[in-house]
Amino acid sequence: MNSALVTGISGQDGFYLLKLLAEKNYRVIGITRSLDEARSKAIHLRDQSVSLVEADFSNSQSISDVIDKYRPREIYNLAAMSSGSGMYEDPVSIGETNGMLVLRILESIRKIDSRIRLCQASSREIFGDAPPSPQDESTPINPRSPYGAAKAYADTMIRIYRSKYNLYACSAILFNHESPQRGLGFVTRKISRAAAQIRLGLASELQIGNLDAQRDWGFAGDYVRAMWLMLQQQHAEDYVISTGRAHSVRQLCELAFSHVGLDYRNYVREDLKAYRPAEPALLVGSSAKARAVLGWEPNVSFEVLIRMMVDTDMQVLNDLDLGKNGGETDVQNN
Ligand code: NDP
Repeated sequence: MNSALVTGISGQDGFYLLKLLAEKNYRVIGITRSLDEARSKAIHLRDQSVSLVEADFSNSQSISDVIDKYRPREIYNLAAMSSGSGMYEDPVSIGETNGMLVLRILESIRKIDSRIRLCQASSREIFGDAPPSPQDESTPINPRSPYGAAKAYADTMIRIYRSKYNLYACSAILFNHESPQRGLGFVTRKISRAAAQIRLGLASELQIGNLDAQRDWGFAGDYVRAMWLMLQQQHAEDYVISTGRAHSVRQLCELAFSHVGLDYRNYVREDLKAYRPAEPALLVGSSAKARAVLGWEPNVSFEVLIRMMVDTDMQVLNDLDLGKNGGETDVQNN
C-alpha cells in the first residue's frame, strides 16, 4: 500500500489531495500544527481513514521524528502561511513556515531514507510582480514579498538537494487555484459568498478592489492531481501548474451574480482602499511542460468553477439558515 505524508492537510488543497489519495488507496498521514484546531476547522479530517499527527514546524527534530516513524513513500508539503496584506506583519514566521520547513523536510529525507519523494507546493509569487508573460519554468525568479521570497528559498533548496543528493524532490509552481474550500478572505470566495448572500437577502452590496485586475484561476482539485502526477515520474522536475487563461475580477463578478439571477453592476462597488498597492502585471502561467510530460490538463473550466463555488455557498447559507449546518467550514460536497 502506498503511503503519503501531507502537511497543511486541513487547508483547501489538503481537502482535495486527501480525496485523491483515498481514491488511490493510499495510507495518508496528515501533519498539523494543532490536532484540535485542524479537526474543528476541517471536517474532512474527522474521517477515520486519515491518521493525524501534531508536529512543531519550527523544530527539525519534530519533523524528522514523524517522517522516521511513518516512513512514507511520498511527502506533499502544502503547509504555508498564505500571501495577502497580513504577510508583512510576521515575515519571520513566513520565512519559517514557507521556507525553512522545506529544508527541515529535505534534511530529514536525506538522513532517514533518500527514496522518499517530496512535492513542494510552490507559488507563482516567486516570479514577482512584473515578469514577462506567460510565466513558465524558465521565468527569472524575482520575488517581491516575504511570501514569494520564502517560497523561492524553498525551491532553491529543493534544486540543490536534487542535484547534490539525488533526491526525488520537486516544486509545483502553482498559479491561483480555488474551490468551495477556499478561505473567505480570498477574492473568489468573497464574491461567490456575496452573490449567495445577496440572492438570499442576507447582504445588500459587495465592496471590492480593482475590478480589472486579472488572474489565472484554476480548480484546486485539478492542481493536486498535478502534484500527485509529479511524484509518479521517472525523474523529479519542477513544473508550472496553471490554466494559461486570465480572467478579470469583473468577469468573475458577472459570472457569479448572473448564476443567481442578479446583475453584479447593481451590487458590486469598487473600493479604492482595497486596491493592492502594486497591481501585478499580467500573471498567466504556461503549463506546456506539465501538459507534455505529465499528460496533465485542467478538467474544470473557470465558468464551472465559479458556478460550483456559488452553488456551494448558496447551499451552506441555506443550511445555516435551517440550522442544519454546524459551521462555515462544513463544506463537504466539492
Ligand atoms: P490553505 O491556507 O488553505 O492551507 C494551508 C495550511 O497550511 C493550513 O490549513 C495549515 O494547516 C497549514 N499551516 C502551517 N503553518 C501555517 C501558518 N503559520 N499559518 C497558516 N497556515 C499554516 O492553503 P491552500 O490549501 O490553498 O494552499 C496549499 C499550498 O499551496 C500552500 O503552500 C500555498 O502557499 C500554495 N499555493 C496555493 C495557491 C492557491 O491559490 N491556493 C497558489 C500558490 C501556491 P494546519 O493548521 O493543519 O497546520
